[in-house]
Amino acid sequence: MNSPINEDHTTSSPTDLLIVGAGIVGLAHAFEAVRRGLTVRIIERDARPNGASVRNFGHCCITAQEGRYLETAFTSREGWLAAAGEVGFWAPEAGAVVVARSHTELTVLEQLSEKRGPDSVQLLTAREVSSRLASSGSADAAIMGGAFLPADLRVDPRTAAPDIADWLQKQKGVTIHWGTSVRDVHEGGTVVTSRGDFEADKVLVCVGHDLDYLFPEIAARYEVQRCALQMALAPAPSGYTLDSAVLTGTSMTRYDGFTTMPAADALRQEIYGHSPELIDIGANVMFTRRPDGTLLLGDSHVYGQTIGPFQDEWMTDRLVQEIEKVLGSALTVTQRWQGIYASSPLTSLLVEDVNPTTTAITVTSGIGMTLSFGIASETLSAL
Ligand SMILES: Cc1cc2nc3c(=O)[nH]c(=O)nc-3n(C[C@H](O)[C@H](O)[C@H](O)COP(=O)(O)OP(=O)(O)OC[C@H]3O[C@@H](n4cnc5c(N)ncnc54)[C@H](O)[C@@H]3O)c2cc1C
Repeated sequence: MNSPINEDHTTSSPTDLLIVGAGIVGLAHAFEAVRRGLTVRIIERDARPNGASVRNFGHCCITAQEGRYLETAFTSREGWLAAAGEVGFWAPEAGAVVVARSHTELTVLEQLSEKRGPDSVQLLTAREVSSRLASSGSADAAIMGGAFLPADLRVDPRTAAPDIADWLQKQKGVTIHWGTSVRDVHEGGTVVTSRGDFEADKVLVCVGHDLDYLFPEIAARYEVQRCALQMALAPAPSGYTLDSAVLTGTSMTRYDGFTTMPAADALRQEIYGHSPELIDIGANVMFTRRPDGTLLLGDSHVYGQTIGPFQDEWMTDRLVQEIEKVLGSALTVTQRWQGIYASSPLTSLLVEDVNPTTTAITVTSGIGMTLSFGIASETLSAL
């Protein structure tokens, strides 16, 4: 558990680094800073990590990144494994299985395998995919094959960030102020909070989709919006033990590694032809298993400046129905929730100097778990 909310700290001494936000982006920066011997203060408005970083699939989606983000993702993979080694959280090198249920889906995977090489994108037969998905049910008869992406990592999103925070606050030179809101950051490194002012040589603002509350002009320049996702939890069917993330055809319409393949447009049209509602809700039908045997199921994508609290039941039902088809088993949903992340049509990663001592860092796409430690390594190396 995280420590209780801190008392006022108006006289605390300055630190090398002050990080706003104890989501995975802020925590990864703190971890990398500690490795480099810096003193770190983290200011978090909630009493524990409670944002996008605990609401996601816990899938470090390395292979399906493209261009500069592919490189950052591989750096991030090393950071995640180093953190898991130090902190002791669950992070199996379990890869991802991509299920193909049409010739077009198979073609996208073949094209990616050809581009990246057969070791990075290992093509699977229908029988191999079905045996990986094995449980008491029998996997979808429509499965034609698939691919295994061995570089992808898994973590448990509900425990990874809290465990990193717990570990950090036991390290010399690190303080986390829970229940403390940052209101402003002045040039020169003064951070104004609901519990007094703090000083630091360098300030990193890692507040995810709430960047517009602090720096609306930067958020507006990057056309940052909120993206809301509907998620559900269900016990895995008996006999299902796969730790790999499982992606499907709709996933291939969302990650740049797939969408840059020549057959990607045809795939999108194909899915729109038989399941227009999945394209309309921006579905990425995928699931991951947590170490306690439950499955994280999702997801849909709805965009807006302000996200309403009302979740359409049919969307989650439709996603769960699709996953039941893949697994060949009925699922009993025990929890539903909404996750929100930042989205920009202009970039997947917003890094912007607010003033000479302050930098805002927000991942503006649904890949913040994947990139977090890579971004942190790049930021700290540039300091
Ligand atoms: C449902 C869902 C599924 C996803 N699946 C994946 C996935 O499988 N793989 C992947 O790579 N990515 C995934 N993502 C994206 C990923 O979760 C995010 O990109 C990532 O968690 C963002 O981390 P963050 O630290 O920037 O944000 P957050 O985790 O939201 O943390 C920001 C923190 O800043 C704090 N804060 C905000 N304002 C202030 C302030 N003024 N003062 C103090 N504190 C403040 C907040 O309280 C919060 O704790 C998913 C996202 C969602 C919602």
